[in-house]
Amino acid sequence: MKMSKNPSPILVTQPFLPPLEEFQVYLKDIWDSKWITNNGKFHQDLEKALCEYLGVKYISLFSNGTLALVTALQELRITGEVITTPYSFVATTHSLWWNNIKPVFVDIEPNTFNIDPEKIEAAITPKTTAILPVHVYGNPCNVDRIKEIADTYGLKVIYDACHTFGVDIKGIPVLNYGDLSVMSFHATKVYNTFEGGAIVCHDKATKDRIDNLKNFGFVNGQVVSPGINAKMNEVQAAMGLLQLKYIDGIIENRKKIAELYREKLNGIDGLSYMDDMDHVKHCYSYFPIVISKAIYGKSRDEVYEELVKQNIFARKYFHPLISQFATYRGLESSQPGKMPIAERITEEILCLPIYPDLEEEIILKICNSFKNRFV
Ligand SMILES: *Cc1c(COP(=O)(O)O)cnc(C)c1O
Repeated sequence: MKMSKNPSPILVTQPFLPPLEEFQVYLKDIWDSKWITNNGKFHQDLEKALCEYLGVKYISLFSNGTLALVTALQELRITGEVITTPYSFVATTHSLWWNNIKPVFVDIEPNTFNIDPEKIEAAITPKTTAILPVHVYGNPCNVDRIKEIADTYGLKVIYDACHTFGVDIKGIPVLNYGDLSVMSFHATKVYNTFEGGAIVCHDKATKDRIDNLKNFGFVNGQVVSPGINAKMNEVQAAMGLLQLKYIDGIIENRKKIAELYREKLNGIDGLSYMDDMDHVKHCYSYFPIVISKAIYGKSRDEVYEELVKQNIFARKYFHPLISQFATYRGLESSQPGKMPIAERITEEILCLPIYPDLEEEIILKICNSFKNRFV
């Protein structure tokens, strides 16, 4: 096999890992106490610390975001049909599947790639019980309009907030909208606990029920519901506590990278990127660009391959749409032509590398290649 000229490939993301010595201090504590899961000390500390950092009332930690989504739907006893977006990671819709709920896809907005609230009402049927929107790339959905629709039709709202961490709208944490918000702390996210997740809720009774659900449905030794095992362990929670010490710097670095990309990609015909939204504090979880072949001269797939030649692995995220996967292709709302905006964006989207340690030199190289149209 021929060795690549560039020894280390540049991936779309790279997890932030704190200094190992600092993590070992936490591990020593866990070894000494021999308490490694089931609402341990670090678990309790992390719930408190995250409530404070994120500005939310109650949080329940999970072993991953997918189980948190599945449990959030259980907690609200969602059934029948749920309106959601095809432009997300498959786990959003898988959580419905695992609850025997039929997903009903609604197209996205052309500027944010979030679910288009103006298309929600047409998708509501007597079986609809909830809306499951995603704050895609961490950009907040139109939360006010979604709330208005949900209130009018008596629907619950669960936000898939797996791309957001510390995102505010006019100083209000985006996690405080909707009945529940679900987070992921997977290795590829802005804030990671190796794997992990959480449900954010607004009252103690709800938190207590969610805590029971993630622990087999146990309450004082009795089983009160068919719960699952989705508990976060102490090693994950320790990682979370340590990551929190670095998170402001992580987001600051990501912001700088996004700003540099924007400066250098500005004015290239056929390329567009997202600017910061008015009154929003962002977390810069991704740097998506849209490549219009008719104007740029090269398609997204061609550009992707050109970058691979340079040992740079951008990501076609989200491609394909969830509705285009074999599992979901049979649904009425999955039929080709039903989601014109999402169907176009999924062919033109490319997420460029962004992570705290990404070197400026690499960013400049990528932007130069785009400017020269890879010739
Ligand atoms: C990462 C992610 C999930 C799943 O989270 P895991 O922690 O990997 O289970 C769900 N939805 C979206 C939008 C995600 O990005």
